[in-house]
Amino acid sequence: MSFDLIVKGGTLPDGRTADIGITGETIAAIEPRLDAEAGRVIDASGDLVSAPFVDPHFHMDATLSYGLPRINASGTLLEGIALWGELKPLLTHEAVKERALAYCDWAVSMGLLAIRTHVDTCDDRLLAVEALLEVRKEVAPYIDLQLVAFPQDGFYRDPTARENTIRALDMGVDVVGGIPHFERTMADGTRSVTELCQIAAERGLRVDMHCDETDDPMSRHIEQLVYETQRLGLHGRVNGSHLTSMHSMDNYYVSKLLPMMAEAQVSACPNPLINIVIQGRHDTYPKRRGMTRVPEMLKAGIRVGFGQDCVLDPWYPLGTADMLDVAFMGLHVAQMTSPADMRKCFDMVTAENAAIMGLDHLGLEVGKRASLVVLDAGNPVEALRLRAERLFVVSRGKVVAERPKRPTRLALPGRPAEVVRRHTLP
Ligand SMILES: [Zn+2]
Repeated sequence: MSFDLIVKGGTLPDGRTADIGITGETIAAIEPRLDAEAGRVIDASGDLVSAPFVDPHFHMDATLSYGLPRINASGTLLEGIALWGELKPLLTHEAVKERALAYCDWAVSMGLLAIRTHVDTCDDRLLAVEALLEVRKEVAPYIDLQLVAFPQDGFYRDPTARENTIRALDMGVDVVGGIPHFERTMADGTRSVTELCQIAAERGLRVDMHCDETDDPMSRHIEQLVYETQRLGLHGRVNGSHLTSMHSMDNYYVSKLLPMMAEAQVSACPNPLINIVIQGRHDTYPKRRGMTRVPEMLKAGIRVGFGQDCVLDPWYPLGTADMLDVAFMGLHVAQMTSPADMRKCFDMVTAENAAIMGLDHLGLEVGKRASLVVLDAGNPVEALRLRAERLFVVSRGKVVAERPKRPTRLALPGRPAEVVRRHTLP
């Protein structure tokens, strides 16, 4: 027996030590020990081998545009949207594509191999849609890129958004998006959820809406999203992004809402870095965190992932395509600090995010696609603590990124010569 690639001796997220044999683009074997020839052998002994990171919520048409044409002074969502509106007419096809491809390079280096990006459809030229459709094709050999038709300025509020969103779907955009809390009235928001879900049902597409991204506890569009999912039989195909208003909702109402979400299999994708930065901006003290109710949703049986949302754009001045940063912030804001909860946060940025995107081919199992990451950490919680380096990134059986381990050299009398900051629990 021989393989194209063997990843040897790594620790899997469940704690097993295993050799992973890869043939072509597929995981052909996972055994405690593989004695076989291989085109290349990666020594992963002592290191964590994980399924790739997945980001189910991103804005690739805006990424790496921070400072263009100016910086968001208030830090609010609404100024970010206004700023993006100033930048939009200045965008060129080439610039959008170049920034998106540069971001995809960062993503690969961080082991982030599947991304769902919203693309703004409120532009009669649909320039970003065209650019990102080309990017989707170019990165297909190494990144699963899903596009969401996203009417940023409101499906009804913007005069041509409806028509342009439908055009974008005709052009091959994968998922139906929306922004009900930004429509002119609650009623318009409700109506937009209904029509967008109908469009998705007719076309056999998934739905992923920016939903209730506000501190207003009366923003309850998630209720309509759940209702339409039930009515149209879209179970397991609908995701509610952000859902920040739920942080501020009445507890009794939430106790009714969460079981309905679970019943309709509507998943949730908070974006911790962005939620903690953008929500609560109108508060004095005490200042709300604004992130949705993650532990409560998990307890109710709702699938929850963590998304990144923004990197260096009108809404967020930082970011490095590191889903461990996202999970790290998420576990702090949600106070998910028990060992089991921290472990869950790692799963959320890998397996759970993949499930939200419907990517059944990802995962460390025989027969699945040979995409994985070797991390400079002993286990998932340590990977989170260290925001561990990606030593090897394998996509579709090919090593697409690698870097050497780099311990820090110390010059301290009587102390070790090197430090790595790994720690074995007693
Ligand atoms: Zn977003």
